[in-house]
Amino acid sequence: MNHRKPIIIGNWKMHTTLADAMVLTESFLHGLERIEGVDVIICPPFIWLYPVKEALGGGGPENLQLGAQNVFTEEDGAYTGEISIGMLKGLVRHVIVGHSERRYKIGQGESDEMINKKLKLVLAHGLHPILCVGERVRQVKRGRGRPRLEHGKDIVEQLKAGLLGVEPGEINRVVIAYEPVWAIGTGDPATGEYANNEIKRLRDALGKWYGSEIAENTRIVYGGSTDSENAPEFLDQPEVDGLLPGGSSLKASEFILMCKEAATAKKVAV
Ligand code: PEP
Repeated sequence: MNHRKPIIIGNWKMHTTLADAMVLTESFLHGLERIEGVDVIICPPFIWLYPVKEALGGGGPENLQLGAQNVFTEEDGAYTGEISIGMLKGLVRHVIVGHSERRYKIGQGESDEMINKKLKLVLAHGLHPILCVGERVRQVKRGRGRPRLEHGKDIVEQLKAGLLGVEPGEINRVVIAYEPVWAIGTGDPATGEYANNEIKRLRDALGKWYGSEIAENTRIVYGGSTDSENAPEFLDQPEVDGLLPGGSSLKASEFILMCKEAATAKKVAV
């Protein structure tokens, strides 16, 4: 029995037309109706948030929630094309911050400072951040001990920077996503064991900073080329509290199956 409720977070990235978004939402509404014991979050592009929310109406399953893929660092002002936290409030419950595509791929890339600012804004407005961390280069074992990272910050340092200034009482609203960059969109996922070990390192760090109770209650998911076939390998791991699929979240039957697998693998103790 598990004490952390499993969570599946679908990141649609910059995919879908409005028609696609409506079809996906309808499928999730029906497909998730009878699945209990898992929180499901879908993160469509900003522009579909309102129509998707309307389509979910009041009648959607309680455990199907909306998330945004990003938010801007400032609350208001002359920032052409950006989306503020105030605009998201009332539309979504969750906001992804620090996705690796925003850290390393889009524009100038986002710094740890920007990500921390976004995370604190999300918390300050009563929403739930999903903080992504992940190493850029696959680690190769060299001799004894942990291999040195060849490129970029270790995931524990990324986590520390992302959570800078966050109070213990706010951590229960943060979901952490461990997403090795080399596994995202590559069809080359980590192994369950590898993900479990890395997530354990993140949880141990949380324990050191916030105490063991908070660490034990914080949900940490794995993301990187997951699908319904490899999902059980991750979900069977004790430290892995769910998944953050990108590509697979755009295939309704695949995504629904992953939600079912999470509910089955991680029955929550009552
Ligand atoms: C992601 O969008 O964070 C992701 C993990 O994508 P994919 O599942 O396609 O690798």
